[in-house]
Amino acid sequence: MLQIKNLHKSYPIGDSSLHVLKGIDLSVTDGEMVAIMGSSGSGKSTLLNIIGMLDEADSGEYVLDGVPIKNLTEKKAAIYRNKFLGFIFQSFNLINYKNALENVALPLYYQGLKRKERQEKALFHLEKVGLKEWAHHLPNELSGGQKQRVAIARALAANPKLLLADEPTGALDTKTSYEIMAFIQHLNDEGKTILMVTHEEDIANMCKRIVRLKDGVIMEDTKVDQVRAEQYV
Ligand code: ADP
Ligand code: MG
Repeated sequence: MLQIKNLHKSYPIGDSSLHVLKGIDLSVTDGEMVAIMGSSGSGKSTLLNIIGMLDEADSGEYVLDGVPIKNLTEKKAAIYRNKFLGFIFQSFNLINYKNALENVALPLYYQGLKRKERQEKALFHLEKVGLKEWAHHLPNELSGGQKQRVAIARALAANPKLLLADEPTGALDTKTSYEIMAFIQHLNDEGKTILMVTHEEDIANMCKRIVRLKDGVIMEDTKVDQVRAEQYV
C-alpha cells in the first residue's frame, strides 16, 4: 500500500528551522490497521499530512499504491488524494452550512458523478454509519459522535484504498470514542487499510500495529493483539 524511506521534514522558524521528521522508514501493506503514537509535537500530524499529500517532505521517498509521490502538481495531487485516500480529523471538518447528505456527497462531486448518483451513494454511506434519518440535518444539530460518523461516511464515499485518521476520537468522550473505534475496526475487518494518529494508549491498542515516534524517528514498531472496541459500547 505504501512505502516510505528516509523521509525528512523541517519547518522554517525565523532564521533557523525545526527538524521534525529525521529519517522515517515505514511500510504499510493492504489490510493493516496502524496507530501512529508519540507525544504532542512529535510529528505525528506532519507525517500523516505527508502521507495524505496535504504536505510535502523535504527529502526521502514515498510510494503510494505503486505511485511515487514527488513533485506533483496540485492538480495531480488532488486527483491521487481523491482516488486513494479518505480523511478523518479530530475536529470532524464538516462543512457547517451543508447537511449530512451534502457533506458525504462532496467527494463524489469531485469525482464527476451526476447529482442523482451522488445523492444515492451518499445516502448508502450514511445508512452504513446508521445516520440515514439524519441526512437532512446540519452538523450543528448532531452530536460529536454523529458528526464523526458523517465524516467517516464522507471519507468512505469515494471508496478510498487507505483511510487516514488524525486523532479521530480526540474530541469525543470515552464511550463515544469506543463506538467510533468499533466502527473503524469493522471497516478494517471488511478489508480497509487504516492509518490513525492517536496519543491515547487504549485507542492505539485497538489497532493491530503501533508505530511510536520520538525525536523525529520511529523508535518502536510492533504488532499488537487488537483489543475489540465493541465490548465497551
Ligand atoms: P503532533 O501531531 O505529533 O502533535 P505536529 O506534526 O503537529 O506534531 O508538529 C510537530 C512539530 O512541528 C511541533 O513542534 C509543531 O509546533 C511544529 N509544526 C507543525 N506544523 C508547523 C508549521 N506549519 N510551521 C511551523 N511549525 C510547525
Ligand atoms: Mg497532531
